[in-house]
This record gives sequence, C-alpha cells and structure tokens, in this order.
Amino acid sequence: MARIGIVGGGIIGCATAIHLIARGHDVTLFEQDASGLPASVGNAGIMAIPEIDPIARPDMLLSAPRWLADPLGPLTLRWTDLPALTPWLLAFLRSARPAQAARTRTALLGLMRTVLDDHRHLAEMASLVDPVQHTGAMTIFDTQTALDAAFRHESETARLLGFAVERLSPAEVRARIPALEGALAGGIFSAGYHTFRHPETFLRALQAHVRARATLVDASIAAVRPSADGITLTTSAGVGHSFDKAVIAAGVWSRDLVRGLGLRVSLETERGYNTTFTDPHLTLPMPIFFSEHGFCATPFDNALRVGGAVELARPDAPANFARAKAMRTKMRRYVPALPETGGKEWMGRRPSTPDSLPVIGLSPDDPRIALAFGHGHLGLTLSATTGRLVAELFDTGEQPALAPFSIRRFQRGTKT
Ligand SMILES: Cc1cc2nc3c(=O)[nH]c(=O)nc-3n(C[C@H](O)[C@H](O)[C@H](O)COP(=O)(O)OP(=O)(O)OC[C@H]3O[C@@H](n4cnc5c(N)ncnc54)[C@H](O)[C@@H]3O)c2cc1C
Repeated sequence: MARIGIVGGGIIGCATAIHLIARGHDVTLFEQDASGLPASVGNAGIMAIPEIDPIARPDMLLSAPRWLADPLGPLTLRWTDLPALTPWLLAFLRSARPAQAARTRTALLGLMRTVLDDHRHLAEMASLVDPVQHTGAMTIFDTQTALDAAFRHESETARLLGFAVERLSPAEVRARIPALEGALAGGIFSAGYHTFRHPETFLRALQAHVRARATLVDASIAAVRPSADGITLTTSAGVGHSFDKAVIAAGVWSRDLVRGLGLRVSLETERGYNTTFTDPHLTLPMPIFFSEHGFCATPFDNALRVGGAVELARPDAPANFARAKAMRTKMRRYVPALPETGGKEWMGRRPSTPDSLPVIGLSPDDPRIALAFGHGHLGLTLSATTGRLVAELFDTGEQPALAPFSIRRFQRGTKT
C-alpha cells in the first residue's frame, strides 16, 4: 500500500483515483475547483470508440484554410494568441504527415479495444448503475462525395474494432431520427458509439466515491517536488503534503507542473463551446454528428447538448459565445424544432497534444510520478482505461506497449 497524491479531480484524476483505491492505496486527490465546470463536465458525453484518427492528418490540413476563413466555423484561431501557440502549431503540422498519422491511429486503436470493458469495470468499482447507454450515433452529410469518402473510412475502422456501420439514404436517416427535417445527402449509422447519461452526473458520482473512500482536498497544487523521502505536493497557499507517489492529472494545467519538474511537453487548449437545453421538448434517440460543420448534438437524461468545434486559444482568453450560437443556428437548418432561445452556454478546454495522443506514463526522471493528461477530444472515452493503466504502471514500471504515450516523445534534443 502506498500513499499517493493526485493533482486534478477531472475525469482522468477521478478514474485514476478509483483504480488506486481499489488496489488498496491511500489516495489523496487535490482539486482546485471542486464545483467547477471543466471539460470533464461540459463535454459531449460520447464514448467515441471509433475515433482513432488524429486531429492532425492530411485531409484535415486540406480543409483547414476554408474553416479558418469563417470566424464562427468548425476551426478558429485567436490570432492574438498566435505567438504563444506557434510551437504547438508547428508540431501539429509535423504530426499531420501520413506516417505519423498512421502511428497515432494504431496507438489509439490499441487503447480503444478495452474502453468498453474498462468503463464497465469503473462503473462497478464506483457502484454506478448503467451510466452509459449503447445508442450508436448518426453522422449526417451535405454531399455525396463526403458521404462516400467517410463511409469507406468508417467501414475500415469498424472492421478493426468489430462493430457495424450502415450507409443510409436521407429517408432512412429520417426514419431513425424523425426530428431531422432539413436537406441532407444521407448518413452513416455507427454502432461503435455509446452515450453517457450525463457527463456532469458521471463526474460528480466519481468525485463522491473518491470523497467517501479517500481524501479529497479542495486546494490548488502549485508545485510537485521529488526528494529522497517522497514526493511533496505544495499547495498555492504554501502547504506541503508528502506522499510516496504522485499523479499529475490536471488537464491543460498539467503543463506548468510538468515543466516545474524540468520536463518538456507540448500541450495547448482546443477550446469548445456548447449550449445545453434542460427538459427539452425535442428528443433525439442518439447523438448526431454534423460532420461537415464540426459539431454534434447529444441527448442526455432530461437534457440536449449542442456544440463542439475547435478554437485554438490560450486557456484563459475570454470566451466568445457567438460560437455556441452559430452552432445552434446551423443545427436549426436540419432540426427546425431546436429552440431558438434559452439553454445554457458553456466553453471548455480540451487538453490537447499536437499528435492527438494522451500522455500516459511514468516520469522518465522519477518512476514515483505518473503523468495522465492531454486526452484532447477523447478524455471521457479514455478515462477508465487511463486510470487502469496508471494503476498498473505503478505496479509494473514502464511498459513497452505504452511507449507511444510517453512524455519522452517531447524530450528529443534535451537531456533524456
Ligand atoms: C466541447 C467539448 C466536447 C467534448 N466531448 C467529448 C466526448 O464526447 N467524449 C470524450 O471522450 N471527450 C470529450 N471531450 C474531451 C474531454 O472532455 C476531455 O478530454 C477531458 O474532460 C479531460 O479531462 P481531464 O481530467 O484531463 O481535464 P479537466 O476536465 O480539465 O480536469 C482537470 C481538473 O484539474 C483541476 N486542476 C487543474 N490544475 C490544478 C491544480 N494545480 N491543482 C488542483 N487541481 C487542478 C481542474 O480544476 C480540473 O477540475 C470534449 C471536450 C470539449 C471541450
């Protein structure tokens, strides 16, 4: 049994805590804003097992100039933040090379194979009853060309992961989702997706489990300091807490803690926006991806959430909620029943690496420190798997199979 301190009570920190508690460790989790609304609360709530393609890939680079031309489109860049984002953007461009994109796809495929079982196990450990439903998801297309290309690609992914995909005519799409009225070229139903009943309820339940069986401290950690006696986590108020081991799982804020350890990491925020309607009169049987517009709509228990898109900006830059409105306006083209007003707008920060691979591993300098962040668009999906892997790593040491996720990939040209 070890005394383990975890920084960050988002979905990654909580899933990791639950695995470590189940293995009998004495866990203390530090969260700077326990009632806050981080990415882990406001996300689209989709277990996106089919999404093994990196964001940086050749076809994405071809679409990027068109998207960037629309300030409210699927991808924007806050130009005033360009200097701060440039190193990440250059690494992003390098990651889009076909060979690197293929390596990322293989690495994510490996993680996705166990996601469903890992989530079932996490729910059992936290005594949650059916937090996820097998809904599948519908992706709709404006053009036959886009539909053809996506169906070929989705079919290949489905074959690798062992689920079904169906290509549907507009009438077949509407038969499954009657609220879809606008013009569309067709759709793809993918059985590989599952939907959480509600991401906030899920996170709060995991946090409550951690609070009940371990220690949850409402404090911000300013520094992680290893010494011969252990790892000290020092709060921003200057109080030191000593542990045998520590986990850094603080979303995008992990980068400051990691840099304080002398390690390099490329981590920026892909910010996303959405609107949540509570008790909506509009119901959807499954999530809908509006593929050419970069957003989706997800039905939750008593709620409907519409949003997504990517805004590259500093984490603390002011929010631009016109982006949430733009997605609602676009969705009404296809779903006129979507309310024009009301709903709660939100902006959240995906902690993203340029190669779309999370950092999951032990510090190269000190195997008592585990790193678990950078899950980008897939943190909810990969949370249970990450928690299991971190717990196993503390028992076994570094694993060759996890090499693609190691922070070592950012240290090239430096001391490690
Ligand atoms: C619009 C949008 C839609 C998304 N949809 C999906 C989806 O459908 N499926 C999916 O799998 N993923 C989705 N994601 C991505 C997913 O939400 C994130 O990858 C995931 O929530 C990241 O979890 P995290 O725990 O690493 O980070 P966070 O959720 O950011 O949590 C980090 C926590 O650490 C705390 N913290 C930070 N620094 C400190 C410190 N120094 N001391 C103490 N506490 C600290 C923060 O307060 C925060 O609570 C979406 C994201 C967005 C923005």
